[in-house]
Amino acid sequence: MKLSSPTVSAGPGPGTSPADLLRRLRARGAGDPITHVERVPARAGVPAPWPPWAPTELRAAFARRGVVAPWRHQAEAASLAYDGGHVVVATGTASGKSLAYQLPALATLLADPRATVLYLAPTKALAADQLRAVTALELEGVRPACYDGDTPRAEREWIRKHSRFVLTNPDMLHHGILPGHAQWSGFLRRLAYVVIDECHTYRGVFGSHVAHVLRRLRRQCARFGATPVFVLASATSGDPATAAGRLTGLPVTAITEDASPRGGVTFALWEPPLLPSAPSSSAPAQATGAHDDMTELTQVRRSALRETADLLADTVAEGVRTLAFVRSRKGAEVVAASARRALDEAVPGLGDRVAAYRGGYLREERRELERALLHGDLLGLASTNALELGVDLIGLDAVLICGYPGTRASLWQQAGRAGRSGQEALAVLVARDDPLDTYLVHHPEAIFGAPVEATVLDPANPYVLAPQLACAAVEAPLTPADLALFGDGAKEAIDQLVEAGALRQRPTGWYWRHRERPEVDLRGEGGAPVAVVESATGRLLGTVDGGSSHFLLHRGAVYLHQGVSYVVDDLDLADGCALVHVEEPDWSTHARDVTDLSVVSVRSYVDAGPVGMFLGEVDVTSQVVSYQRRRIATGEVIDTRPLDLPSRELRTVAVWFTLSPQSLALAGVQAADVPGALHAAEHAAIGLLPLMATCDRWDIGGLSTALHQDTEAPTVFVYDGHPGGAGFAERAYGTASAWLRATRDAIAECGCETGCPSCVQSPKCGNGNNPLSKPDAIRVLDVVLANLPT
Ligand SMILES: [Zn+2]
Ligand SMILES: [Zn+2]
Repeated sequence: MKLSSPTVSAGPGPGTSPADLLRRLRARGAGDPITHVERVPARAGVPAPWPPWAPTELRAAFARRGVVAPWRHQAEAASLAYDGGHVVVATGTASGKSLAYQLPALATLLADPRATVLYLAPTKALAADQLRAVTALELEGVRPACYDGDTPRAEREWIRKHSRFVLTNPDMLHHGILPGHAQWSGFLRRLAYVVIDECHTYRGVFGSHVAHVLRRLRRQCARFGATPVFVLASATSGDPATAAGRLTGLPVTAITEDASPRGGVTFALWEPPLLPSAPSSSAPAQATGAHDDMTELTQVRRSALRETADLLADTVAEGVRTLAFVRSRKGAEVVAASARRALDEAVPGLGDRVAAYRGGYLREERRELERALLHGDLLGLASTNALELGVDLIGLDAVLICGYPGTRASLWQQAGRAGRSGQEALAVLVARDDPLDTYLVHHPEAIFGAPVEATVLDPANPYVLAPQLACAAVEAPLTPADLALFGDGAKEAIDQLVEAGALRQRPTGWYWRHRERPEVDLRGEGGAPVAVVESATGRLLGTVDGGSSHFLLHRGAVYLHQGVSYVVDDLDLADGCALVHVEEPDWSTHARDVTDLSVVSVRSYVDAGPVGMFLGEVDVTSQVVSYQRRRIATGEVIDTRPLDLPSRELRTVAVWFTLSPQSLALAGVQAADVPGALHAAEHAAIGLLPLMATCDRWDIGGLSTALHQDTEAPTVFVYDGHPGGAGFAERAYGTASAWLRATRDAIAECGCETGCPSCVQSPKCGNGNNPLSKPDAIRVLDVVLANLPT
């Protein structure tokens, strides 16, 4: 640990530019960890005049709240919606997306005293926030109200009858409003706008369910003669119009040009250096029993946590107010503790100016930390990113981001904490040893250029479609006219429901046959959810979907819930419950599975000579067989422990590619190295898929083999880890050449010799990362890319 400046300035003001600061941070170690510096210039906002249709009363109300004129993107989106077009606003954090829907919605409520608006948010907290904002406008006759699980019974009837701006969430729409449509008929008949806020959160299986809940809403509105306009707000993403169109089933226009002002940021991408030599302590000496022959993850790079801790100590020593974002609570504490230690070694007492900030603190404790940071008593905070930070915690001089937070939206949200008014700020992304992080620090265009990651969902998933059609049939008998509304596969799903005795076909349509409604959980994903219960108190902490429970809740698993760490004592699959106790060990756990896969059908394919690219249904049989314990601070593997869990079957969607053995031989891949080449390519491809689609590597699985019984060729499969598919494999297929190009580059650009967690090793590999051949993986991908049309 070197501190560049032994004399420490006492005050909070750094009096130093981000570029100077970065120069000094860069100079402190051997080699150059900085792969890229982007100057994101300050941008002046582009205001637009109020649209002519915006009533004076509404303009005045906004003016009282400090909005003198809309930004151009707000005005454009608002006018499109006011003219009856469905629109999605996909612009940056804090760009004022709410004005874009408030303006047309409220103008309509003022012009037509009967009209109503339905607002959907993914969380109750966001709906409550919006309620405050709309209420503060003090508009006559709008009577905004939240309607969710917390709304007292006594108030519900009043809201249904009198509120003209109802704020709720998709779960309440699904469980409460649509089944009770008769009571809501007055509201739905007059529905002018449906607002869907933070619509990028509706992705994967959950998003597919929400897509059908919205189709059910449109169907009920149509029965009452209403055709509401949909206005959606999204984080910036690739192709927001398509995603919004899939979600609503309607043609949607996207507004993506952000005209709001922002402060300047110097943004550095930082790759921790390779360690001098692989330490012997990370060799698989302690690996247990059956796994003795496995190659364990070798740590060849300095850990992102250590690097972040050092950077935090350095910036604090410079008197720079810094916030470090760390993914786990334990990680945040490790970063704060080691920064404190380093500072105390340099100047005794200086360590007191760094603290950890995390969930689980009382509100007053958090406010006290925020206050101390604002006043400069504290200079450094290490915080979990899941935490709802206090709104006061802005205007810092520097933000350190330990590991890519998963999406560009979160990255910018975190970086946006930096920058006091009129001052340039510094943001540093410290890469973890993970293929996606490695790729991003070497491909700044993927961060600073046009977004490629898209929000994906698959409304045609039969595991979503059938239960949703059952819900729709309870609300009103299904008719042939409904088939187009629910889209591809609707007829097949209805036939299956008839066959299963759930629906009865009559001349007037398909009728639900049972007395009780079907139980459909929007967030459930096949297999009964497993309850997580604290042994000591019997308290239910939450549920985990059946599919993930073997990975997350096996005996000995470290399970994080709202920032608190628990260890699983027992997973009782028969009872559907996992017993846990509070414990915060200094290791994390990583489950591994073994997989078998067979092809059921091919949906689409590209024949590219020696290479084939396919999308289709597959049956996957997998079994979680063991888990690894890894030291949080260093990533070092402690041991691998066996597990005894039953195997599970999954019918899902996969993307796969095949290569002819001849093409591999021509490319210089020896027959004996084909398994290692395909396996390495598979790992990296899974690691890079989140670049193209908002998922994380736990949503997807893979399998590679030198000869597959169904394809009769060397094959790499990547599949959705959810029954019926979630859209990830489909997105991978649709962007195959860009996805595999990024995969190839991530492997080729990693500085390691024979493969490491930054390129071809995977923490969830069922085969202990054996065999893997890094150079041959590049050859495999080169053959695919040379043949595949772009
Ligand atoms: Zn590597
Ligand atoms: Zn593997």
